[in-house]
Amino acid sequence: MENKTKLNFKRKIMVIVSAILFILALATSIICCALDIISDCFGYVLSIIVIVFLGVFLSFSIASFINRQRKLSHLRDENKYYFDLDSYFYDRDLFYEKVSELKKKNKSSGYVICFSLFPDKQSSLDNPDNKKLRQVVSIYIDKSLCKNDFAKNKIAYCFYRNYFYIYSFLNKEKVYDLINTIYKSVYDLIKESQIKTLAEPHFGVAKDNTASLVESMDNALIARDHGERYFEEITFFSQEFKQILDKYDELKNALDNKEFVIYYQPKYNLKKKMFIGAEALVRWDSPKFGMLSPVKFIKDMENLGLIHELDLYVFKRVVQDLSFMKRNGERLIPVSINFSLYEFYSPIFIRELKNIVEEYAIRPDLLEIEITETTTQANTIRSNAILKNLRDYGFSVSMDDFGSGYSNIMNLINLPIDTVKIDKKYVDSINDKKVKEVVKMLISLCKVSKMRVIAEGADSLEDVNELEKLGCDAIQGYFYSEPLSFNDYQAFLKENKFEKRGDNR
Ligand code: C2E
Ligand code: CA
Ligand code: CA
Repeated sequence: MENKTKLNFKRKIMVIVSAILFILALATSIICCALDIISDCFGYVLSIIVIVFLGVFLSFSIASFINRQRKLSHLRDENKYYFDLDSYFYDRDLFYEKVSELKKKNKSSGYVICFSLFPDKQSSLDNPDNKKLRQVVSIYIDKSLCKNDFAKNKIAYCFYRNYFYIYSFLNKEKVYDLINTIYKSVYDLIKESQIKTLAEPHFGVAKDNTASLVESMDNALIARDHGERYFEEITFFSQEFKQILDKYDELKNALDNKEFVIYYQPKYNLKKKMFIGAEALVRWDSPKFGMLSPVKFIKDMENLGLIHELDLYVFKRVVQDLSFMKRNGERLIPVSINFSLYEFYSPIFIRELKNIVEEYAIRPDLLEIEITETTTQANTIRSNAILKNLRDYGFSVSMDDFGSGYSNIMNLINLPIDTVKIDKKYVDSINDKKVKEVVKMLISLCKVSKMRVIAEGADSLEDVNELEKLGCDAIQGYFYSEPLSFNDYQAFLKENKFEKRGDNR
């Protein structure tokens, strides 16, 4: 605000000076002519030149002054909209001006810091709490931060497309201090203002060593987004983020274009001698690469923070397929879907799953959540509460890939789980005496805890016979069926015997 007043003041002075010059020049010409100091003709020509020149200059000054006023009034409207504040928190244009002014003063370039107060998805402008938070932070930056000892005369700021940008002429160490000051202040402000919104600032920082300030601002934003995906508070830009970003764009586009398709792999119950369910397995039907196995993209999806969106998409597609079959009068059997336990750490995620189930009126016991065993080890108390919540709602829960990582037998006893899936690795070596003993022991442990056991990846009759002898309840493997497209899966169910549970399923 103070800086803006200075800028306005400069322009006013220019207009006043040009007006005075104009009057002086006019007066001089008139006096010269009156006193006959110079020849009439030359005097007139001189006065006209001076008048025209100053007239143009004066109109230019007035036009630029009006333009400036218009800009400021627009800025005031913007500030009202974003912060509900009658002020002039900088926009990008004023930020550029301020930065170039500071660059001249500091005789160097600095760092651009970018942050937003919320994760991307929750930055809604209409939410009054979000607006309030934006407001207190902008007041803080405008009024307090700039007075901070190490920030005084060293920073410029703006708010652009939902992000705060701060340009600082500080060294890397001081940039950390600055960010920590902002971080702490944001939380203090939230407490003081009793704002009930969840602030999650991630700070992206980029050295301003690019061709333009716009590029440095983009780099800071790329670093911020990277930080959000990797749960980092402060992230310095690195060129490789741009390559990751390309991959991100490719996968995100594939999600937006609904290029992922669901395959269903049936599960066979050995005692009931019929199919009892299926696992939903995703594939990427890429126009560029053809049909891709999840092994090729799941890890990237996890690393890029897109796995939530993918798993939610798969879940919804499965529920839609079930609803389609139901409307067609076909009988349904449960379908399991793969998740990572940490996805459920967010209560929003569980709510989203429940909303989908309710929207399509599908019974939750037709859905099973498969969670990989390694993730359930992270925090058993929390895992317990999450799994219990899922089961209380009516979903079944299975522990996937049991035995593949550092398996924890205590998990088998403690966690509220319906089914344990024995990893393919064991099935592959089921003829090995030791492996057989381990599987036998695992199965009896599951039986004690009243859990069902399903073996994955059995692709021969010998494997199936062996697993049956060991007491395994069910098999999911190529021996019975490979994963099938939705059409083939529907045809498969028509041709094979499967467990029909309840009338309206
Ligand atoms: P998974 O959950 O262990 O799925 C079982 C994998 O074993 C599937 O591979 C399936 O096609 C394969 N399989 C089943 N029976 C046999 C067999 O008899 N022989 C052989 N050689 N393989 C068999 P797929 O579909 O390639 O999936 C690989 C992994 O990708 C899955 O392992 C799972 O971890 C992940 N995945 C698949 N779909 C999703 C998804 O929607 N979300 C998430 N987060 N992960 C998924
Ligand atoms: Ca699985
Ligand atoms: Ca598995």
